[in-house]
Amino acid sequence: MSIMNNFIINFCLLFTTITLLFLPFRNQPRITPKTHLKTRLILGGIAGLISVLLMFNSIQIDVARIDLRIIPVAIAMMFGGLPSAIITGLMIIGTRFLLTPADQLEGVIVSTVVIGLFIGTIGIVRRYVRMTFWNFELMIGIGIFYSLPAIYLLTNSWSTFFKISVAYIFFNLLAGYVTYQLLAELRRHFENIQYQQKLAMTDALTGLANRRRLDDSLSLVGSAEDGYSLILIDIDFFKHVNDTYGHDAGDDVLRQLGTTLASLVRPDDLVGRYGGEEFLIILPDTSAEETKKIAELARMTVARNLFPTTSVPELQITISLGIAHSSDSYTSLEALQQADKALYYSKKSGRNRSTVYTKTLELEQA
Ligand code: GH3
Ligand code: MG
Ligand code: MG
Repeated sequence: MSIMNNFIINFCLLFTTITLLFLPFRNQPRITPKTHLKTRLILGGIAGLISVLLMFNSIQIDVARIDLRIIPVAIAMMFGGLPSAIITGLMIIGTRFLLTPADQLEGVIVSTVVIGLFIGTIGIVRRYVRMTFWNFELMIGIGIFYSLPAIYLLTNSWSTFFKISVAYIFFNLLAGYVTYQLLAELRRHFENIQYQQKLAMTDALTGLANRRRLDDSLSLVGSAEDGYSLILIDIDFFKHVNDTYGHDAGDDVLRQLGTTLASLVRPDDLVGRYGGEEFLIILPDTSAEETKKIAELARMTVARNLFPTTSVPELQITISLGIAHSSDSYTSLEALQQADKALYYSKKSGRNRSTVYTKTLELEQA
């Protein structure tokens, strides 16, 4: 009964620590033996920590200490490969040494040999197998295979050995099953959250940043020391496109304009659809002159290219642009209003042009 109870405590420890300690990996892509070495060593350390906790709660029978420590080793090997598993193994051996009285050193030696053989064997297995449930259970099986002779050596009677072995095999295989399902479930859960977060920040029509993402980015850039610029873009006579060729053709144009703008900006710039047929580009650490060049490039590229839709193969559009630089404003909201004024000026003075906001522009409009 007490053996069962101890295994159940080991069980609970295993699952709580897995859930807690693997939380820091939630935004990472799945760890594989190709992941950056540092991440894999950290993984090995975390798995080692779980093993250590399990060993502090192991069942002591004669000189043997029995617990679920092979599960974290299998996790480390499955995800991070040999370097991760070696870290986990070293932590297990170190803990076994510290936990053992000086007159029972044979226990340390035997478990070191077991861990060594276990890691060596599953290291070879891992090279040839993919990460699946049965391969994970195979690794656990190998761990059990090496542990049983050790348990036999360290316990005094056949009947004790037999009793323990049955519980040992049962609980390790079961823990392997539940662990694998738990890790897979956590992974699905985290991936789902990442996907939802991405959706919440993406414009469905163009695939660009949506207004929420742009607003977030505006509030961040607003507190930056370096000057930034904004380009607000509006399609000229877009209502006419919709009225003449239909709403679907209008959508096609919006999509293509999105692709065109995204291809023109630099890696640190953020381009998004601010609403309707208006696009916004946020350019961190960029002067007004540099921004004007990028805006003109966008304007000319759009004016020279065709925007073919299913109904009209040769549709042409133009855009008007308004530019604002952070040196003229206190907040990013103010900068955005200035870009809007500059855009209004571009519209008023004939469309298909870009205007940089200045104070004089405001006086002119008043
Ligand atoms: P201006 O040169 O002054 O900007 O003229 P405009 O016709 O582009 O200006 P207006 O703001 O009056 O019209 C914008 C049009 O954009 C109205 C609306 O039907 C269209 N529009 C807004 N969002 C979408 C969209 O998601 N898809 C389509 N197809 N059209 C849209
Ligand atoms: Mg408009
Ligand atoms: Mg328009």
